[in-house]
Amino acid sequence: MSDTLFSKIAAGEIPADILYADAEVVAFRDISPQAPVHFLVIPRQPLPTLNAALPEHAALLGKLLLVAAQVAAQEGIAASGYRTVINCNADAGQTFFHLHLHVLGGRALNWPPG
Ligand code: 5GP
Repeated sequence: MSDTLFSKIAAGEIPADILYADAEVVAFRDISPQAPVHFLVIPRQPLPTLNAALPEHAALLGKLLLVAAQVAAQEGIAASGYRTVINCNADAGQTFFHLHLHVLGGRALNWPPG
């Protein structure tokens, strides 16, 4: 079992503002929010990047999106809108190598992100 920072958050060993948790997936607020609402959705299974995902992870990947939408609704940004982002490796600026889906909302977001 890996001991990534995000695994420790998922295990409750490091504090975080948890918005959703079940046996497979945890969502918590980003410590450095880039929008009024900014949370991360992670699998408890610590895949380092999206590149490590295999066909057997298809349901888990789908669940990340379903939980993102559910928590976005909880946070009141479903109708106004939000963005989901998975950064993968250096060019995308990935800094934590435990797969995570960013959800940002609560303000208008520029596109393309630059
Ligand atoms: P990445 O750049 O890898 O896509 O995103 C990593 C994210 O994790 C960043 O948005 C960063 O603010 C967030 N983060 C880093 N350390 C912590 C932490 O200890 N707690 C929480 N809640 N978020 C963190």
